[in-house]
Formats: sequence, structure tokens, C-alpha cells
Amino acid sequence: MRPFWLQQALDSAQEAVCPPLQGDARCDVCIVGGGYTGLWTALMLKEAVPALDIVLIEADICGAGASGRNGGCALSWSAKYFTLERLFGVAEAVRLVRESERSIGEIGTFCAANGIDCDYRLDGTLYTATNAAQVGATDAVVAALERKGINSFSRLPLEQVQRLAGSARHLEGWFSPAAATVQPGKLVRGLRRVALQRGVRIHEGTAMTGLEHGTPVQVRTAQGTVRADRVVLGLNAWMARAFPQFERSVAIVSSDMVITEPCPELLHQIGLDSGISVLDSRIFVHYYHNTSDGRLMLGKGGNTFAYGGRMLPVFDQPSPYRPLLRESLGGFFPALAEVPLAASWNGPSDRSVTGLPFFGRLDGQGNVFYGFGYSGSGVGPCHMGGQILSSLALGLDNPWTRSPLVKGPLGLFPPEPIRYLGSLMVRNAIRRKERAEDRGLRPRRLDVRLARFAAAAGKADKG
Ligand SMILES: Cc1cc2nc3c(=O)[nH]c(=O)nc-3n(C[C@H](O)[C@H](O)[C@H](O)COP(=O)(O)OP(=O)(O)OC[C@H]3O[C@@H](n4cnc5c(N)ncnc54)[C@H](O)[C@@H]3O)c2cc1C
Repeated sequence: MRPFWLQQALDSAQEAVCPPLQGDARCDVCIVGGGYTGLWTALMLKEAVPALDIVLIEADICGAGASGRNGGCALSWSAKYFTLERLFGVAEAVRLVRESERSIGEIGTFCAANGIDCDYRLDGTLYTATNAAQVGATDAVVAALERKGINSFSRLPLEQVQRLAGSARHLEGWFSPAAATVQPGKLVRGLRRVALQRGVRIHEGTAMTGLEHGTPVQVRTAQGTVRADRVVLGLNAWMARAFPQFERSVAIVSSDMVITEPCPELLHQIGLDSGISVLDSRIFVHYYHNTSDGRLMLGKGGNTFAYGGRMLPVFDQPSPYRPLLRESLGGFFPALAEVPLAASWNGPSDRSVTGLPFFGRLDGQGNVFYGFGYSGSGVGPCHMGGQILSSLALGLDNPWTRSPLVKGPLGLFPPEPIRYLGSLMVRNAIRRKERAEDRGLRPRRLDVRLARFAAAAGKADKG
């Protein structure tokens, strides 16, 4: 089963699959993984040095991973400001917030310039509260952003919040114009098309089965080897299994979503007319937006955890959380309670300890680079990832290659089975805490304390 967005993108474009690699290939740069990270890196490398010979291999088809199935909310890192400042200091935190906002604009500019029709809408985002305990949750970070001169949020009157968000469930709302929504499958497939047009050699159905350091690096696949001067790994949630040294650097957790059949009149009636994304202030947030073809998509993170970072079959099946999501949808939008769902799906997110992605040189080698750990917030940030990885692959000395984001993982989860059992314990505590808060009850103290382990990573992650 292909997730809804990817299937819709495939149906609308009717492109042939790129043939698998047969035999050996030689190139300047080999990119492994055909999601946003791999494709942005390829495109940025071509932009910088058009003559560069690039081979991109993808185990399935481009967009089969998180990039073809996410919630399509392109958000900046402003809500992560405290984590950025704590880890990297004020100057870098301010730079990264600005860059993350710039990336959102640049994705739109790139799509417009290259005819990528991915329903990109720069209509902003609303961070809200859906119970009394969440009220005020965004105030401190907005105040900090304001002090640094990088605040894009403004508090809206409640009536306006509820109208923009199409739901009376919201009790407050901060609006930022620096956010977009996209049809994620069309975005990733559009990037693939442009990469092909610019001469990137793409082999789909071609999994890396091994990597041997050296000059050139050898990337092994079932039916051939790619020899490359430099290699970029954009494997996202697959990275932790492919390279055991990363096993403890991320926890693999699903985000789950549902999408309705088209109901444009109902959406118009409740006021959800724009491409705004709406996120509440839970730890495992609810996030939703409408689509250009008049549907409503709603998702929620933090559901299925994978023992040992395994890719579970359930990640490619309809969401087991469909009934809960249906209930949430009815809770937000009573008028939509009877609208049929067109699909549900889920997918693996790579949640890092910090909630931020990390980049680096594999095994300290100067010619193999990696980046992952986007923690359920990668639609915008993968564009920054492309800038980092293309800069590393070109051997540049610039703010991206000097950034502390390039220091590899900045924290490790405990080994299994502690990570798995601990993750479930924290997840269940969060669920109990948020259920109590939804009912206006005081949550148990232990649940609040356990929930802090996840909250530390920062707000607005969808994994
Ligand atoms: C359900 C869900 C909802 C999300 N919602 C949002 C959202 O609303 N907003 C947001 O900002 N972020 C969201 N995210 C996160 C975002 O989608 C990701 O951070 C982003 O897509 C990561 O892109 P990527 O290219 O690094 O990884 P991916 O898109 O996962 O690409 C990795 C690719 O590597 C391939 N691969 C794996 N192993 C091999 C191998 N051995 N050889 C070759 N290829 C291989 C895979 O097939 C895959 O195509 C969500 C994620 C999920 C799962």
C-alpha cells in the first residue's frame, strides 16, 4: 500500500520508474536515499557545480519514505529556540531560526521556478491550546524570540483563532506567517523530476547493501557497485539499522494521519479556507490543514515505537490509530464528523534526543557524509539539510560546515530493551497526563515527571 499523498502524486504524474542499477557505476558523488534530504542535496550540488556526475540510489521509489507521506506542514525552528540556544549558543540559534524561515520561502521559490505543482501555500501556522493546561505554553518561547529580534508570531484574538482554525476547540492561538503547507508526495516527486532533468542519474529499486570506505568509496547494491569520490547518506529512519553505531542516536516512532474525502463546502462553512497549518500544544501534537482539493488532513505523533529501531510492517499499513484520529477529527470539527475518510496511514520518524537533526562524517572519514534525526519536523529543515550536506560534499568552509549541527548525534538513548520500555512508559504517561488535562483534571505527578523526558526535545515535532 502506498500512502495517500504518494499515490495521489504518482497518479497525477504517470512517470516511469528509474531502472535499478545493473553492473558497476563510477561517479563524483553517490547519494543514498531518495527523500527530501537526498534530492535537495543532489539539486544543490548540481546548482553549485553543474558538471558534477551524481548517482542517487533509492531502495524503493523516490518518496517512499517519510518524504512521500508526512503531514505537509513546513515549519520553522522558531519553536525550538530554547533547545537551539542551550545546545549551540545565542548567535547560532538566531542564525538557524532565520535560516529555517528562509528555507520555507525558498522551497516555494524553487517549486514556482521549476513548475513543481505541490500545492505550496505560504499561509502561515497557528500554535494553539486545546485545553486549559496548554494555555500559555507558547508564551515563553515567543518572548525569547522577541528579545532576539527574530519573532514572527503574534497573538490573535480568540474569535479570530477559532475562525482561522475552523474549530471552537482552540482556547488561544499564536500566528506566524513563516510557514507553509504542501502536498508532500508531489513535492518529493517534483524534486525527483527536476533532479533527473539536471542530469542526476537515479536508480530506484536499488538498496545499498554495504559501504566500504576508501578512495573511491564503494557503495554495494544487489546487482552492482557504485564507486564514488564522495557519498552522502540520506537514509532517515533506516540509518540506525544500516549503521549500528547510530542505533542509540534515534528512536523510531510513528506519526499517524487520516484524510477525508473532499468536502470543500463544509470546510468553507467552518472557515477553514486557507492553507494554514494548525498545531496544538500537546507533546505529541495534533496537526491539521486543509488541502487544495477540499479535504481535511489530521495527524498525531508519538504512537507506535519500534524495538531496536526496526522498520515495522505496520508503518506501511493503514494506521492502527484510525479510530482515535477519527474521534479527534470529530472533536475538532463536529460538522465533519460524518464525512467519510479517504485514507489513513502512518510512517516512521527518526526522533533524536535533542529533537534536532544531526550531520557529520561517517566514521570520521572525509568523504562520506550523513544527516538524519529530523524528529518529525523535516519538510522545511531538509532544505537546510541539503545545504549542509552539499557544502560538506563540496569541501566548503561556510556557516553550514562550521555549524555545531555537523558534530554528529548530541545525545544517546539508553540501550534496548531499556529504550523501548522507557519509550512506552513515557508515551503512556503522556497519554494519561493529556487525557486528564483534556478533562480538566490534575494529572498524576509521576506522569508529569515522566512526560518531561519527551517535552525536553521541543515543541511542534510530529514524530
Ligand atoms: C507520518 C509522518 C508525518 C510527518 N509529518 C511532518 C510534517 O507535517 N512536517 C514536517 O516538517 N515533517 C514531518 N515529518 C517528518 C519528515 O517527513 C521527514 O523529516 C523528512 O521527510 C525526512 O526526509 P529524508 O529524505 O531525510 O528521509 P526519507 O524521506 O525517509 O528518505 C529516506 C529514503 O531512504 C531510502 N532508503 C532506506 N534504506 C535504503 C538503502 N539501504 N539504500 C537506498 N535507499 C534506502 C528509503 O526508501 C527512503 O526513501 C513526518 C514524518 C512522518 C513519518
